[in-house]
Amino acid sequence: MAVPKRKTSPSRRNMRRSHHALSATTFQECSNCGELKLPHNVCGACGFYNGREVVEAGA
Ligand SMILES: [Zn+2]
Repeated sequence: MAVPKRKTSPSRRNMRRSHHALSATTFQECSNCGELKLPHNVCGACGFYNGREVVEAGA
C-alpha cells in the first residue's frame, strides 16, 4: 500500500481545504409564474420548463 512520506503540515492541510467552502444556493424567478426556482430545474409551482408545461402543476 502506498504511504505518504511526510506528515501533511497544518498549513498544507488548510491550503487543500481552501476550496471546500459551500456557496449559498442560487434562485431564479420562473419565467411563467414568477415563483423562485432552482436554475435548470422544473418550476415546483407551475411545472413549466423552457416555456412549456412538462409536469402537472404542483407536482
Ligand atoms: Zn413557475
